[in-house]
Amino acid sequence: MTRLFVAAALLLAAWPLRAEEVGWVASHGRAGFVTAHLYPGAAITLAPQHLAAPIVALTFDDGPHGTNDPAILEILRQHKAAATFFLIGRNAAHHPDLVRAMVADGHEVGNHTNDHIRLSQHTAVEQAATIAQANAALVLGGAQPRWFRPPFGSLDSDTVAIARAQGLETMLWTVDSKDYRNIPAATVEERVMAGLTPGAVVLLHSNHHNTVEALPNILARGGALGYRFVTLTEWKAWMERASFVAAAVKAPGP
Ligand SMILES: [Zn+2]
Repeated sequence: MTRLFVAAALLLAAWPLRAEEVGWVASHGRAGFVTAHLYPGAAITLAPQHLAAPIVALTFDDGPHGTNDPAILEILRQHKAAATFFLIGRNAAHHPDLVRAMVADGHEVGNHTNDHIRLSQHTAVEQAATIAQANAALVLGGAQPRWFRPPFGSLDSDTVAIARAQGLETMLWTVDSKDYRNIPAATVEERVMAGLTPGAVVLLHSNHHNTVEALPNILARGGALGYRFVTLTEWKAWMERASFVAAAVKAPGP
């Protein structure tokens, strides 16, 4: 009985945080293709079952990283794969050369705030400031960011609009590799492969070396299964066509 009471008290104590953090479902890796969880603020309803090609978007957060990102770029080049890097502004300011290399290789560079803060614990003004600072650092590195990913998947009800006001769409993920837990590369690989479905958005990190080790096999095995690795902007174009097809299927013409 006492144990039950303690459990109920803990649940109640946690509740306000969860209610506020509208991104918590995504941050725990259960977003799937619920449009509001993966792509909050989207103009379309995601319909990956209607994708005309099995595309996948790999995303690398928390860079640029001085040693891992050059290695990741080289592996992507070898496999002719494109990806999206969600960079921390202050890191980008230290490595403008890496930002330029990502853009030059045809990858996309997105905004991951300047300071990697948990946005739901900050005011709207503070959120706008850290996003703007990161954008400035990315633009200095030659990028034109179109996407925003909140650190920890932590959003509040204002965050999507704040990012949109700066020209950014918010994107979470469908597959959490959990590479940040310092698990073996083989575990990262298996977790990503288990979640690889058409339209998947995969969360990886630049600052963990297990990711670099796992990447060649992920690309080789994914490629052998027919998957194409694309930037988020290309992912969006495929998804828009799929949602158009879904609407046509739902409401057939005369
Ligand atoms: Zn991050």
